This record gives sequence, C-alpha cells and structure tokens, in this order.
Amino acid sequence: MYHVECCCRNQVSVQIHQCSSDVRCPSCGSSVAVPDSITLQKRSGDKYPGMRPIDKLLTTAAKHEHPFDGMCHKCQERGAEFQVPVNVSWMGADASSQHSTFPLLLCGSCRQSFDSERNASNWALAGRLALFLGLLPIVVVATCEYAPRIELDSGVARAVASIVAFATLAAIGRRFRKLKPRFIDSWLAGIRWAPEAIKSESEYLLTLGRVTPYEAPKK
Ligand SMILES: [Zn+2]
Ligand SMILES: [Zn+2]
Repeated sequence: MYHVECCCRNQVSVQIHQCSSDVRCPSCGSSVAVPDSITLQKRSGDKYPGMRPIDKLLTTAAKHEHPFDGMCHKCQERGAEFQVPVNVSWMGADASSQHSTFPLLLCGSCRQSFDSERNASNWALAGRLALFLGLLPIVVVATCEYAPRIELDSGVARAVASIVAFATLAAIGRRFRKLKPRFIDSWLAGIRWAPEAIKSESEYLLTLGRVTPYEAPKK
C-alpha cells in the first residue's frame, strides 16, 4: 500500500498496479496522478527500489537505516534494548551458498515474550524428537515381526517399499528446503523486507543466535 498526496492534502492510498495512471481522490473528487513504480517506492521510503528484498534487508541493517534505526521490531513503540542475531543461509544467484545476519531488535517487555515463545518452541521440538525416537524401535520391531507372516509377493513388496521410501524422502526434502524455527514468522513480520526476503528465496536456513544488549547507534 502506497500513498500519493492530492491537491486538497488528502493522502490517497494506491496499489502498485495503479502506477503511471490517474486515480480519483475520495475526499474532493479531483484526479490525482500516480507516478511510475520506482518513483512511488522511493517516495514511500524505499531508498533501494531496484534491489532484491534480502539485499535491502542487509543494506539497511548495515547502515542502521529504517527498520534498523533503533525501534523495537515487535511493538514498534519503544526503543530497542536487546538484539537477537537472525542468521540466514541461502543460495546466491551464482549457486554459491550465502550467509548473512541481521538483528531482530526488541524492547525489554517484547524480549520477555520472545524468550517465552522461544522456550515453548524448543520444548515442543524436544517433545517431537522424543516421540519420534520412542516410536522408531516399535515400528522396526513390528515390521520385523509381521512382515514375514504376510507373505507378500516380493515384487509387489519391493514396489510398495520403494514408493513409500520415495514419498518419505520427498516430504523430508520439501520440509527442509525452508528451515526456520516455527514461532519466528510473527517476530519477523514487523521488519520491513524480512517477510518478502524469506518468501522470495526458494531455499534457506534460518537460525537464531543469543539475545544480547543493544545500543542504538548515535545519530
Ligand atoms: Zn483531494
Ligand atoms: Zn517492543
């Protein structure tokens, strides 16, 4: 969502597909010219309209520009006191693997809710792992015990086994192409470019570092 100002000073909301056309001001009814998309994005605070989202993210983070200018990314109300390194690895344009880090900035009270969500997520993960490790021997024993009794034709058995193995591998592969902690989306939603950057990369690995104190850059 972008805005252009009408001669009556009303801010008219426009979509990117309305670029280089005229829209009618809902307040005074006069016609307002919408500039081309690059100009529109620049005026809306996007200094790097030509860049890929992941590069915008890393550039603004490195330069301490908005959204990395010291506000809490979650509540967007208080100054940040803590930072969590978000480490991303993805495939670059030349198929080389790229690694980079940008900070998730948090105020004191948002840091507390972040810590508790992260703990809950870690316990849930540990629970799933324990469940898996507990079920594995049961499945193995049951298979060894019952498979010979069914006396399946060996050709059919092999075909079924390879289909199951293939489907399992494909499912695991799909799951692991975009790997990130489950709770993280709502925390990254407040960082401009981050949701786009993550969505636009087809494969990546996202991990979180330790929370450390954050000091806003001197202006
Ligand atoms: Zn108007
Ligand atoms: Zn906050």
